[in-house]
Amino acid sequence: MLPKVCPCCSGQSYQACCQPSHEGAPAPSPEALMRSRFSAHALGLFDYILLSWAESARAGVDREALKGWLERASFGQLSVLSSQVSGTSGKVEFVAWYRQDGQLHALHDLSHFIHEHGHWRYLNSSAPELSAPKLGRNDPCPCLSGKKHKQCCINCLATP
Ligand SMILES: [Zn+2]
Ligand SMILES: [Zn+2]
Repeated sequence: MLPKVCPCCSGQSYQACCQPSHEGAPAPSPEALMRSRFSAHALGLFDYILLSWAESARAGVDREALKGWLERASFGQLSVLSSQVSGTSGKVEFVAWYRQDGQLHALHDLSHFIHEHGHWRYLNSSAPELSAPKLGRNDPCPCLSGKKHKQCCINCLATP
């Protein structure tokens, strides 16, 4: 079953957002590619995740480790904090929330992208200097349960 709302939290329908990329259309920007990678994680589109790596980086991906990691994770909120493009490279800073092994994790990342063979692709990451946004007790829980954070994952936040 395809989701109605895109798992990348763009607020758009999946059809209008990440689905075309998942079906082979080039993502129009590094941010769009990053979003499509996140929603591919949420939907378990393992082949797409591999394909979205830059050629030079793909060989270094440990497929089994990635698959195992993915199977244990359930994905929540994605917040894109900034994105930049210059020529054939781009970077996107984001926070991705996911639950794994009974804990809520925040992945705060600055991802680098390159444009090759007509597609934006993920090259590597560097740790951003900013700290992840603080969560309010009354904010909606970023695991997307629909509950307030204090009534949900507040006691199972993974320590960074
Ligand atoms: Zn999307
Ligand atoms: Zn929660």
